[in-house]
Formats: sequence, C-alpha cells, structure tokens
Amino acid sequence: MRIVTGGIAQETNTFQRQPSTVADFLTPDYGFVARGAELFDLDGTGTVSGGIIAEARALGVDLVPTTFAALVPGGRVTRESFDLFRDEILAGVRAALPVDGVLLVLHGAMALEDDDDAEGLLLAAIREVVGPHVPIVAPLDLHTNLSDAMVQTADALVGYKEYPHIDMPETGARALRLLIGAVRSETRPAMAFTRLPLIVANQSMVTTWASPLKRAIDRARELEGESAVLAATVLGGFPFADVPFGGVATIVVTDDDPALARRYADDLAAICWEARADFAVNPTPVPDAIAAAMAAPEGSVYVLADIADSGASGTAGDGAAVLQGLLDAEARSAAVAQIMDAGAVAACIAAGVGSEVTLCVGGKHDGLHGPPVDLTGMVRLIHEGSFMLGGPMAAGTTTSRGRTVVLEIDGPGGIEVQLTERRGHPSDLNYFRAFGIEPTARRILVLKSAAHFRAAFEPIATEVIEVDAPGISSPNLATFDYRNLRRPIYPLDSDVEWSPAAPSATT
Ligand SMILES: [Zn+2]
Repeated sequence: MRIVTGGIAQETNTFQRQPSTVADFLTPDYGFVARGAELFDLDGTGTVSGGIIAEARALGVDLVPTTFAALVPGGRVTRESFDLFRDEILAGVRAALPVDGVLLVLHGAMALEDDDDAEGLLLAAIREVVGPHVPIVAPLDLHTNLSDAMVQTADALVGYKEYPHIDMPETGARALRLLIGAVRSETRPAMAFTRLPLIVANQSMVTTWASPLKRAIDRARELEGESAVLAATVLGGFPFADVPFGGVATIVVTDDDPALARRYADDLAAICWEARADFAVNPTPVPDAIAAAMAAPEGSVYVLADIADSGASGTAGDGAAVLQGLLDAEARSAAVAQIMDAGAVAACIAAGVGSEVTLCVGGKHDGLHGPPVDLTGMVRLIHEGSFMLGGPMAAGTTTSRGRTVVLEIDGPGGIEVQLTERRGHPSDLNYFRAFGIEPTARRILVLKSAAHFRAAFEPIATEVIEVDAPGISSPNLATFDYRNLRRPIYPLDSDVEWSPAAPSATT
C-alpha cells in the first residue's frame, strides 16, 4: 500500500499585519520545510508527522513523502509561499501515482493574502490530481476554522482533542488508520459537520481543566468508543482570524452511516451551544496579578500568562505591559519570556556581556500590544537562540527565536528579561532553562502564551493567572474589528437564535 503525504501548516492571525513569507518558512527552527525523505527527520518527535511515520512503520505501510512546510503562527501567508509548496506537493503526488491514499498534514486555520481558505484550496488541488476515488484524510488542529470546501473535498478529517496539543502524534496516527481502513475498503467513511454561530476565545478551549470545550471533547471520546464511529472531533476554531467560516464546529465520521454522523455532529454541537455563556474569559488586571504573586509565601511560583500576546497565536510578541507592571511594582525574582525586539538584542550584543545598557524595549511592531518600556539593565547572557523542547508538547523538536539576550534588572534576584529577534511562545520549561534561568526557582514567570504553556508549567506552578494586557490574542473578542466573520454570531451579537437541527451540510 502506498500512501502519499505532505502538507502546508500555519495558523493565521489575520489581525497580524506582517505577512508570512517564503523566507519565514525557510528560516530554520522557525519555519520548517521537509522535502522528500527529509520528512523522516521528524521520526520520534511529538509532532503529527512523527505520529504518522511511527504508525506507518508499525502497520507496514509505504509512506511516500512529498513536501511538508510549516511555520509558526503569524500573518496571512503570501500567495508566493502557498503556490510554491502546493506545486511541490502536487508534483510529488503526480510522481507517486498510482497511490492508494493521501494523508495531508494541515493546520486548518491558514489564510492567504488573497484567500481565506487555504486548506480548501490545497485539498481541491490534490483532489484534482488523484481523482474522485482515492481517499484523502487530514488531521487538523483544534483551532481549525472549518470551511465547507474542506469537508466537501476530504473523505475524513480528524482533529486534536487536547489543548495544549500533546496529542499531535496520536491524531496523526488515528488519521492514518482511518485512511488505511478506507483504502482496504474495510470502512466507508461518512462525514458530517456542524458549524455553530459561536466564536470563543482560545483560553476557553483548554483541556487541562474542565473547560466548556472539554465537556464536548469528552463526549467525542465516548462516541469514538462506538464501533460505527471512526472519528469524532470538536473544533474550537481560531477566533483571531476574520474569516466567514470561523468559530466552533464539530465533525463526525462514521462507517457508512451518514445519518448517524449527522446526529452525532449535532449532539456535540448542542453541548457547546448549551454551554455558550461559560466560554467567557475574564483575565486579571496586571497590577492585581503581580501583587498576588508578590504576597505569596516564599517558594511560590506564580505564572502570569500574557494571554493576549501569544506568539503561538500569531501576535507581535513584543508587548511589554506586564514587564512595565513588574518594574512599577519593583518585583523581585521575576523572569519574562520573551519580548521580541531585534533592535534591542543587537544593542545588547554590541554592548557585550556584563555591560549595563539603557533601552526602550518592545511595543514597536504594530501599536496593538501596548507601548514600549524604558529600562536599564545588565546584559547577563547572549545566546545564539536554538534549543530543544523537552515536552510534553512537541518534545524532541528544536526551536529558535533568533539571537536571544537575558537582561538582568536590579541585580541578582531582580527581574530577568529575555529579548529575542523573533516572537516566541513559551510552551516548555526549556524556554527558561536554555537561557540559564531555573523556572522552579523564580517567584514570577511571565509567559507570552495563551494556553500551550499549561502542559509544562502547570505542574510547577503554585498558581496560574491569566493577565489582561493588550494584544491580538486577547480573549476580549468584542475588541476585534471583525468585518468578514458571518453574523449574527455569539457572543458578538446578543440575541442569536440557533439549534443544531438547523440545516447544515453532510457529505
Ligand atoms: Zn492550535
């Protein structure tokens, strides 16, 4: 059996004005492009492709790689980037023909500079090459904004069930098994989806606690225990994308039972809809969060999550509001990961380790993440930038935010600030340890992360506080200027009437 694989994966924050370019994709440890057999470099990693490779080996399936391109979340993907990687994938598929199935690795919320539905375009292009009878299956991120075209073109779609996404390998493996079942004609996937008039903040999709989305996801797991259900998915959507089809959606794939798929997709949607008021997120004012951390007993570790400026949601990554709060409060034993400011990094490197520098830091990218901060500190460390993630999420992969500097403010035991050349999204203890900061030995850890930090940091945190700072991954969705999102939609519109019995598509 020959399964061709490849894909393009990026999560697009359409409020981020800086586009995502070919150069970004090709920047090592920031973007990731694997051509042909290079894909197997992901063997053993905690990624979707890592899961697919391991499962293919276990099942004795011949995996034919084309091109897989991925990039950290950011602005809309340029047409040049999409066309480049799409054409490489299509050429790889043509060269591999005849194939038994296609396993496409997608994110699900990628938007192009001139099209909101990149995944729909890619799926359609591949369908055209392989024809109507070769099954196409794709694993999807939980933050997928599901388009009609995606469902109409793929034979089956399978989403993550965890946020932080610690189940990426498992989801890839599940998608491959589903595809193999279809190729062998052991099953006939019948897929239905339900898209709700509901947009919710990322922070309410977390699965490390009993969030509203998790209730529906738990039910999806139960459904997958039934022999007729091949996959059941609850997508939270990616709210920081102004696209018509954004928001919460459910997908159920059954074995040759479209009516059951329809009913279960609606059942999962009903769970989300009934809980719609519970999705509200109410972050804590920055001064209150800092005061709580400073008043806590010796040995406490308070994580202050700067959830509105999460690099993993494609923000600027240069908001300095929490740092300003730390300076104002004269906080001690505080470490900030990370503030993107290439100019400040260059100034620190020019000054050299041990030098005192006075800088204006952050807040320069787009005016949407608060003002810069003036500070004086000592250059404690200069680092080339790359380090390996320890997990639980994406373990074994190497990442880099470019050259990284640690500034020490108010001497040892004061405030340590990491400055980077590119935006970060601290999801792993090594975001501190790689730069000489032991996170378990700091009273305050400031993380620019909406939720991915939770898998690694909740176990070491005395308390996690989501703070209310400015940024384009803020849970205050009413502050975003949506122009293309379908309306009415809850909670942006107050009196939304809806029930899952309303017409929606089935394939
Ligand atoms: Zn995601």
